Amino acid sequence: MAKVIPVADLRVHRGPSLDAFARAAAFGPALDASDVADLRGRRLHDLRISVTDRCNFRCVYCMPKDVFGRDYPFLPHGELLTFEEITRVARRFVELGVRKIRLTGGEPLLRRGIERLIAMLAAIDPDVDLTLTTNGAGLARKARELKDAGLKRVTVSLDSLDDATFRAMNDVDFPVDKVLEGIDAAAAAGLAPIKLNMVVKRGMNEGSIVPMARRFRGSGHVVRFIEFMDVGATNGWRMDEVVTAAEIVGTIDREFPLETVEPNYTGEVAERWRYVDGAGEIGVIASVTQAFCRDCTRARLSTDGKVYTCLFADEGFDLKGPLREGVTDDGLRNALVAIWRQRADRYSEIRTAATVRRPKVEMSYIGG
Ligand code: SAM
Repeated sequence: MAKVIPVADLRVHRGPSLDAFARAAAFGPALDASDVADLRGRRLHDLRISVTDRCNFRCVYCMPKDVFGRDYPFLPHGELLTFEEITRVARRFVELGVRKIRLTGGEPLLRRGIERLIAMLAAIDPDVDLTLTTNGAGLARKARELKDAGLKRVTVSLDSLDDATFRAMNDVDFPVDKVLEGIDAAAAAGLAPIKLNMVVKRGMNEGSIVPMARRFRGSGHVVRFIEFMDVGATNGWRMDEVVTAAEIVGTIDREFPLETVEPNYTGEVAERWRYVDGAGEIGVIASVTQAFCRDCTRARLSTDGKVYTCLFADEGFDLKGPLREGVTDDGLRNALVAIWRQRADRYSEIRTAATVRRPKVEMSYIGG
């Protein structure tokens, strides 16, 4: 039976915003922006930008159909940050040390004119690693344009190679072959190295772990196996549905022996492993069983212009207000400095059965 979500709860999915804090900083006295660290000494390195809260998939662990149905109040167009607003904010983040920008959502390829935004972001600093996470449905058509606009790489979500399992997980009956075509198109366009995200949910797709490893060994693509997380408030998360990173590594290692690899940089999300026989590497994202909050250097910009400093937050800092009230670039940077300096979150380190039930914003809105 369809779940009826009261309107008040839907507001929780977006989260209240700390408008007053961001506004006070944006229009307040100048802060020193030369050495920005949070309360735990963490610096800014990554920015994830959610460009739409809509998606053409209804993955059961992310946007379950009974919640995100026909009547779900997605953001109206006027609430979305414009490309110019996103670029202004991103530029300030880069001034504060961000070296990697990921476009996400929702499904970022659904945002009309996304290539124009990519070109605008690519122009900020050619050395910033500019990437995008997609379900791959529109990739075969768009890969070349994305590359030409200045996108460097893509991450494609792919939960199974088995068509029936894949269709059941995306819950819109989307065939896996189309995503595989998209991955090939991305490779042909040079959006490499390609990463493939597989969320592993017990009882659904743990049987797809070894086939995924087998298929992409030696391809140059890096499969990243992700523990099912308690993001948002709608996916009915339970610990016993988490296939742990240790189990995932053990399963692959029995078939294709693995050894660890040093991280590329402090704060990298995936734990890296390589095949002993030289057939490439995989990543494992263990945000449930091996929290990596200590090194978390990520900020998130939601579709409607709130800054979140944790994926599991329930409050964001509104920048759309100040942006539309004529804040200066210095004021905007000031707001980001203030937001980052007050950051203390470490949700994954303190996760308990009680915290799982806390209101949290949805991943489709904050950006996965
Ligand atoms: N629509 C795009 C896509 O499918 O990749 C981008 C947005 S999606 C929210 C980003 C990533 O988050 C995907 O790889 C998805 O599998 C992952 N994700 C969503 N819900 C998750 C959950 N509960 N646990 C772990 N990963 C999740």
